[in-house]
Amino acid sequence: MDFEVISATTTDELFSAIADNQNKEFKIGAGFTDLINQFRHRTVEGLTVINISQLRDPEYKGIVEEEGSFRIGTLTTASNVMDNQQIKANFPVLHKAASKLASTQIRNVATLGGNICNVSPSGDMTAALIALRAVCNIIDYTGKERSELLSSFITGLKQTSLKKGEIIKNISIPKNTSVKIHSGFEKIGSRNSMEIAIVSLSYHIQCDENATIKKAGVSCGAVAPTIPFATSACEYLVGKSLTGLTHTDKEEFAQRVVQYATPISDIRASAWYRKEVLFNISKTIFD
Ligand SMILES: Cc1cc2nc3c(=O)[nH]c(=O)nc-3n(C[C@H](O)[C@H](O)[C@H](O)COP(=O)(O)OP(=O)(O)OC[C@H]3O[C@@H](n4cnc5c(N)ncnc54)[C@H](O)[C@@H]3O)c2cc1C
Repeated sequence: MDFEVISATTTDELFSAIADNQNKEFKIGAGFTDLINQFRHRTVEGLTVINISQLRDPEYKGIVEEEGSFRIGTLTTASNVMDNQQIKANFPVLHKAASKLASTQIRNVATLGGNICNVSPSGDMTAALIALRAVCNIIDYTGKERSELLSSFITGLKQTSLKKGEIIKNISIPKNTSVKIHSGFEKIGSRNSMEIAIVSLSYHIQCDENATIKKAGVSCGAVAPTIPFATSACEYLVGKSLTGLTHTDKEEFAQRVVQYATPISDIRASAWYRKEVLFNISKTIFD
């Protein structure tokens, strides 16, 4: 492989590396777990990779509690996410998604920003973040910043709203507004470990002290070109009692989730199988 690598340790170095390469082809590299794979399928002649893994700016790494939200830097690894006690307590869906991503070795380098920007329909942490209504905080090489809901940041298969010269700086997750949470991540693969999802379901349901559902976030992975947020399934739950859901309620919820699935049949699973599995896991998350 023949490509140039520029390593940035400060934001000044990062911005000038991007500015210098604005008119050339360049790629951002963080943990490189996806990037190296992309390079196996394309020519890299003349490409520049701007390595941000050693960036020291705290806004790009780590997990910080802010007013109204938790901010997670783009360079935060899956292991960092998995081991963080605030994430585990407040957002079990994200904790579980990070812990089910690949193996320890991959989790130690795979970043949150890389998982999002790889734009895979089976991105585990991305799916959890969509259910959590996370917001992407984006910066360009002139320092101009903007924020966008992650579910609209991903615009299509392998597509985002990111413009050339922009990168993800960090992600904000709104704090829970209710006292009780029912939150989890179900991942079905063809093996138990080191497996990309055939189907995943992320859910984050918030209830008051009487178990009345106040807010729900649900997304489904690997069943569509993007990771859909299942709005109508979420709306169906709001106002109902989490502990009083009937069999009919659970089936209706699962039907509504499946409406968002437009899977393809591929070597790993048929479209029919993906829909059946999605229906069945959706129905059982309340049991
Ligand atoms: C063996 C193996 C198993 C895997 N299993 C799973 C799995 O179970 N679940 C799963 O979800 N993923 C899995 N992956 C995919 C991968 O590990 C994750 O998607 C990881 O989070 C990518 O992060 P990274 O830091 O390595 O990204 P990189 O490879 O460095 O980058 C990925 C893409 O994002 C772009 N990028 C990175 N950071 C930014 C940024 N801040 N701003 C703009 N663009 C950026 C890069 O240019 C590149 O296009 C697996 C990969 C391998 C090799």
